[in-house]
Amino acid sequence: ESRLLEVSGLTTVFPTRSGTVTSVDGVGFAVDRGEVLAIVGESGSGKSVTSLSIMRLIRSPGTIAGGSVKLQGADLLRLSPKQMRDVRSRRISMIFQDPLSALNPVFTIGNQLGEKIRTAGKIGKRELREQSLDLLRQVGIRDPELTLRRFPHQLSGGMRQRVMIAMALSNKPQLLIADEPTTALDVTIQAQILQLIRKLCRETGTGVIFITHDLGVVAEMADRVAVMYAGRIVEQATATELFDNAKHPYTRGLLGSMPTIDQQREELYSIPGTVPPLTDLPTGCAFQPRCPYATELCSRQRPILETVGSDGHEVSCFHPREAGT
Ligand code: SF4
Ligand code: MG
Repeated sequence: ESRLLEVSGLTTVFPTRSGTVTSVDGVGFAVDRGEVLAIVGESGSGKSVTSLSIMRLIRSPGTIAGGSVKLQGADLLRLSPKQMRDVRSRRISMIFQDPLSALNPVFTIGNQLGEKIRTAGKIGKRELREQSLDLLRQVGIRDPELTLRRFPHQLSGGMRQRVMIAMALSNKPQLLIADEPTTALDVTIQAQILQLIRKLCRETGTGVIFITHDLGVVAEMADRVAVMYAGRIVEQATATELFDNAKHPYTRGLLGSMPTIDQQREELYSIPGTVPPLTDLPTGCAFQPRCPYATELCSRQRPILETVGSDGHEVSCFHPREAGT
């Protein structure tokens, strides 16, 4: 069975003064063993809330209002809080943008890595040390002995992120959720770290949900891509298909704003307008106020996600674009 995770109809709501906001609205996707699924979108599109929902880390008064999150067939939304804590410590790992806030400043890297390795089961002192050194070597840390004795603030940003990856993978999780883990790093280190995550997960069969606003990152590592807008998936396809044959005007816009080698990020074309506040979504298609192809139908009715091609390419648009148009 290669299917690792199957999310369907996932819906997460937050009560606000101006009414209930649906931050994640019927989201569904699947991740196979060893596969990297990228979830792409601008900030406020619901990508982080999606990953927090999968981990059941939504803070009250926010709640998961519906759907299912099946990890190897068992719905995480039905587990007891204790069972869910166990899933979080053994079966799913997360890495975030800012490793400094995730690492404890008063303990050495050795302490923290050791602690994490021990969650996978009892282990002797010498073996623990061996495993720690091994993990640090795997993530490309050249002086693992010294690094074990270091405190988080004594490491560079790139080194800290490598340590975070080592920790996240130390207990051999089935699923890794990475939320913009390389955004703060310079481009070269970013590329190294992305390749590293991809390689390690391929080797171990760990499935990855990679959250990013950066399509360059997607091109670097994703097998499949889900594009989110205003709480919904608007397009989903294999990475190759998405880059060759994007059909949703929003995806097209994102691709148009991808930096190329001789362009500066500042000078890029970008989609005019911003993601609408979820408290005040337009009627019909949520992208309609920004869409150059919008028709009267688009302001009246909400498109649903439909299969448009082979390999599970899905798009939610009344007027999907064809290649070359
Ligand atoms: Fe644009 Fe209409 Fe498609 Fe929405 S449904 S993306 S407004 S063409
Ligand atoms: Mg976010």
